[in-house]
Amino acid sequence: MNILVVDDNKFIRQVVSAMIVDSGHVAIPVDGHLPALAELSKGTLDLVLMDIEMPEVNGFELTKMMRKSQPEWFPIIFLSSNDSEDYLTRGIDAGGDDYLTKPVKQVILSAKIRAMERIVQMKGALDRANKQLEILSSIDPLTQVLNRRGLEDVLANAWQENTRQEAELSLLMLDIDFFKLYNDNYGHPQGDKCLTQVASVLNKTLNRATESLARYGGEEFIIVMPFTPIDGARFKAKELNLALQTIKIKHEYSSVLPYVTMSIGIATTTHGASNISELIKQADIALYQAKKKGRNCSQVFQNKQAEQ
Ligand code: GH3
Ligand code: MG
Ligand code: MG
Ligand code: MG
Repeated sequence: MNILVVDDNKFIRQVVSAMIVDSGHVAIPVDGHLPALAELSKGTLDLVLMDIEMPEVNGFELTKMMRKSQPEWFPIIFLSSNDSEDYLTRGIDAGGDDYLTKPVKQVILSAKIRAMERIVQMKGALDRANKQLEILSSIDPLTQVLNRRGLEDVLANAWQENTRQEAELSLLMLDIDFFKLYNDNYGHPQGDKCLTQVASVLNKTLNRATESLARYGGEEFIIVMPFTPIDGARFKAKELNLALQTIKIKHEYSSVLPYVTMSIGIATTTHGASNISELIKQADIALYQAKKKGRNCSQVFQNKQAEQ
């Protein structure tokens, strides 16, 4: 661990640092709050040993400053010659995690460092698990594409970025044709397999650096296309229809083709949507129109007022 030793007494800095090195760690001795905060800002410290009596900023104040400037938890142990209960209480209240009195024995310091190291490792594991959970909670377990929650985040970012840059944002809503008949005839497990295959085809057809695919509901998907005007979206929709048709997932009960196909509704911010849910609504209306047109095709949202 990288252990910061804050003490205004040079002799103590040297003795404590030597103990730290003996315990197999790296000691960073500093005098005063400025070098201490500078070390903290590098983001490489694992533990701080903090003196209390110091001429400019005392250890209580410095601890509060450190906690404020670094919201991520790291252990701070006070190392003071004052063994009063009042000091101990103030130290813990200021944000310290433990309190040792000087002179400290090597065996005690080493044991305390080991205990803190254990907590630091547990916190690391917890942070990693939380991150993993965060990722998992935005992924659809069946198709491994974004779920509705993941979509919400992507859309919120895309909307904000496109509005800021006054660019166009397009949205495709895709729905598998006659999927109920597929499920009813081939069974639910086969239906699940089909959904996975469809998601995989869609994914392969996307430019993954910019476009995001999400499962919106049962057999409905949404593709977010930032910085894409209507022509680009229309072109992509045609490409997607063709890609799915080409892999020929058998569907003898569809009245469009003997393969699984889908219909696509397209909406772009230039159609006048003033928020994300309006844009989704427009894509949904366009999807309905694509279904009416005969399925296995795409349809751009038609603004009724614009038609008149
Ligand atoms: P349309 O061509 O008009 O889109 O008709 P459709 O049959 O595709 O649409 P409908 O909404 O009537 O049926 C959707 C079906 O999707 C109903 C349900 O059986 C199936 N479904 C929804 N979620 C899942 C899922 O997670 N797994 C499986 N296997 N089937 C699902
Ligand atoms: Mg001192
Ligand atoms: Mg549907
Ligand atoms: Mg459908």
